[in-house]
Amino acid sequence: MDKNIPYKIYLSEDELPKQWYNVRADMKIKPAPLLDPATGKPVTLDQMSGIFCRELAKQEFDNDTPYIDIPAEILDFYKMYRPAPLVRAYFLEKALGTPAKIYYKFEGNNTSGSHKLNSAIAQAYYAKKQGLKGVTTETGAGQWGTALSMACSYFGLDCKVYMVKVSYEQKPFRREVMRTYGADVTPSPSDTTEVGRKILAEFPGTTGSLGCAISEAVETAVNTEGYRYVLGSVLSQVLLHQSIIGLETMAACDKYGIKPDIIIGCAGGGSNLGGLISPFMGRKLRGEADYRFIAVEPSSCPSLTRGKYAYDFCDTGKVCPLQKMYTLGSGFIPSANHAGGLRYHGMSAVLSEQYDEGLMEARSVEQTSVFEAATQFARIEGTLPAPESSHAIRVAIDEALKCKETGEEKTILFGLTGTGYFDMVAYQKYNDGVMMDYIPTDDELAKSFAKLPKI
Ligand SMILES: *Cc1c(COP(=O)(O)O)cnc(C)c1O
Repeated sequence: MDKNIPYKIYLSEDELPKQWYNVRADMKIKPAPLLDPATGKPVTLDQMSGIFCRELAKQEFDNDTPYIDIPAEILDFYKMYRPAPLVRAYFLEKALGTPAKIYYKFEGNNTSGSHKLNSAIAQAYYAKKQGLKGVTTETGAGQWGTALSMACSYFGLDCKVYMVKVSYEQKPFRREVMRTYGADVTPSPSDTTEVGRKILAEFPGTTGSLGCAISEAVETAVNTEGYRYVLGSVLSQVLLHQSIIGLETMAACDKYGIKPDIIIGCAGGGSNLGGLISPFMGRKLRGEADYRFIAVEPSSCPSLTRGKYAYDFCDTGKVCPLQKMYTLGSGFIPSANHAGGLRYHGMSAVLSEQYDEGLMEARSVEQTSVFEAATQFARIEGTLPAPESSHAIRVAIDEALKCKETGEEKTILFGLTGTGYFDMVAYQKYNDGVMMDYIPTDDELAKSFAKLPKI
């Protein structure tokens, strides 16, 4: 081990970032504006404020302010579980026999078990400050719902979570963590909303999807006095809050002279990847440094690698504004896979634009090879990774093996977004040798693209 660099780098309390970084300020081409599906015109701040908290709606529209102060109450909460360590994967390097240096930023050190708490606490704070009574949201795999439940209980807000039915049934412990933190959890689709009843009538016995749960949560927020809707990924405000990951990582790298060549993250809606890479992307955009960025997605839900860059709905019920993004179509329901947090049809508008400009690469990987990497990582590095995070591990290992062939001593950095304790059904399938790989056919995708809104 290197004597000059700690095995795990923790910043001290006064080295922690005090501002979030908004990468949009440094982008020459800004993400396209959100559109009102009824008129085709850009959504106004007042319209957005009917669904989202006002301050968060403002952050959504802010393409110009590079640094935004993190309120003191949020900084205090961050101290409960941050800084997150930047770890050198010495044991993995040795096992692979690679000359590459591998680092990972670990975001699983809190009860919710993922990076989602970084934005949950910010969104709960702005809801509280606005004097709201509560918030609604959806959760797929359960990590976002858990994070938001923790954040809401901290600020004394009500929290109504629509949980995709298949997860509600398969992940009873996630559900109970949410209820322990005081959240009200409803399996989606449900008969508590108009859109839920409509979906149930059309598809009886459906086990739900993230897109359906979003529609239900939005409907409830709009119809309940003193409530707003909050979303755990995709939106530019979420990437802003998650920039804390990249800012800490960059401060740690700069302090010890670490210069990553390749930065890798898994991509569902894009919040952890966007959060990790944003400050580095800022340097790249300003011409101060160069990095390769790689987004990793499941082959079963390949929005960047096989999607279209087009305006689309963010939800199945088509109640949310239209966003220009890489998408598989809002009607696309990815086949069952075990990285629930990566099963979303679209991608952050910020990352979509960066990808479209060739500033970032993308790769899709099959889930059996992801679990192979997850198991290898768990056995060698100790931490049991979340299936989502393991997509990044897969590509980090692949890149390190390429270095072994070429003899290049590259520095590889990846985001380890969470732990996999609630994903043991998936690990069980892998261990029993019954895990399957699903890849949508071109035909299936073409059918879904045909239903994209004509804008
Ligand atoms: C939700 C989640 C993801 C994917 O979401 P992004 O918004 O793309 O970051 C990745 N890893 C974990 C552990 C998650 O909970």
